[in-house]
Amino acid sequence: MLGTLAKWLRIYGFDTFYASRDMDDPELLGISKKDNRILITRDKNLIIAARRENLKPIEINSTALDEQISIVLGDIKPDKTKILSRCIVCNAKVEDIKKQEVKDKVPKKVFENNDKFWFCKKCNKIYWQGSHYEKMFEKIDNLG
Ligand SMILES: [Zn+2]
Repeated sequence: MLGTLAKWLRIYGFDTFYASRDMDDPELLGISKKDNRILITRDKNLIIAARRENLKPIEINSTALDEQISIVLGDIKPDKTKILSRCIVCNAKVEDIKKQEVKDKVPKKVFENNDKFWFCKKCNKIYWQGSHYEKMFEKIDNLG
């Protein structure tokens, strides 16, 4: 339900576990407790259950992505040094890769306009600083 938000949290560098559809509430509460994860959900019943377990869940009451991000970043501050340190697809840590090595793996324009690239060892996805990169910093700065 909050898949896009989850991707953005990974862009910000948060270690983000995205629950699959078949997981039930007790399972989610268990993971949150065991791994010390902050539960982020739109499910009111799950919020109530989490509070009962003394977890501090974040309730998302908006369908607008910008608002969702603001709600989360209002509660947990991203570490600027960790931005773009995770793969948005699989959550693994990304690593630097030499420009020359991505030559045939990214669009020509991207290759010409960027000098710094990262890749995910787990799923082989390649990353570079797009225009959204600046916007992310803006968003963090705006939140104080
Ligand atoms: Zn990956």
